[in-house]
Amino acid sequence: MQTVLVIEDEKDLAELVAFHLEKEGFRALIAGDGASGLKEARSAKPDLILLDLMLPGMMGTELCRLLKGSEQTAAIPVIMLTAKGEEIDRVVGFEMGADDYVVKPFSTRELMLRVRAVLRRNAESTPKGATVTIGELCIDTERHQVMVAGEEVLLTSTEYKLLMNLAERIGRVQSRELLLQNVWGYNYFGDTRTVDTHLTRLRTKLGAAGEMIKTVRGFGYKMEAS
Ligand code: CA
Repeated sequence: MQTVLVIEDEKDLAELVAFHLEKEGFRALIAGDGASGLKEARSAKPDLILLDLMLPGMMGTELCRLLKGSEQTAAIPVIMLTAKGEEIDRVVGFEMGADDYVVKPFSTRELMLRVRAVLRRNAESTPKGATVTIGELCIDTERHQVMVAGEEVLLTSTEYKLLMNLAERIGRVQSRELLLQNVWGYNYFGDTRTVDTHLTRLRTKLGAAGEMIKTVRGFGYKMEAS
């Protein structure tokens, strides 16, 4: 049974979401503020986190940054729950490493679709046991561990999937639309600039190995061994 942690201070909403998660066959945990959410994420190691943006004490964005920056929790996908009109915060959510977002008020049906889509794309990109080596880049696909010149690089689950999509199709150009589909899923209705934002961050994190990811102007990206 997969566990979903709901970090949300509106008690009624948290309980409603938990109720629907359980109805869908998930185990649901609730935390009412950022600090207890962080504690719960570290101890319960959920399969996915639904994270409210506006939380008392610690903002959802700050909590997301902490989760994605810690080895223990970096691989757990996070869906941000944002209020209508928080356009800037949406972007901030992605910059903090969130995997997706849902705008309030949302239908529980829409939310469950997103939960399943994020969990599915998280599970899909895992050919068991193989190690992919390209130049100084080494990807342990079983442990989801990425090393560059022997140094571990911490990636968010989205960055990891983006990297795997490029690495598994080395030398082949992939359009932004295809990457969006493969990494974010068919149900995702963001635009292709999302791909650029994540790719820029992935390149930076990979340092010298990031140069193996080439931009193909007006089309997309490809990876080439240097
Ligand atoms: Ca709130």
